[in-house]
Amino acid sequence: MRKVANWALAIAFVIFLIDWSVIGIKLLDNDYNITAEAYIGLACFIVIIAGVLIRSFTDRCPHCGKIMLIKGAYCSHCGKKID
Ligand SMILES: [Zn+2]
Repeated sequence: MRKVANWALAIAFVIFLIDWSVIGIKLLDNDYNITAEAYIGLACFIVIIAGVLIRSFTDRCPHCGKIMLIKGAYCSHCGKKID
């Protein structure tokens, strides 16, 4: 689940950047018809926020359930291996 969230976050972030580049180019070109781009940007923004939230809620140890502050192969609370 965390890997899916990471990928969704990375893809949404790339689309978000490209989308804003398109908006910037259009505005520089005096083209103010950016409704579609604005919606894409908004959708990506929601995915990014959701991804960050999912990540922060899923970064828990599967053994003891405590939130892991440091990402590693072993839990900093109970010392068990994370897979
Ligand atoms: Zn643990």
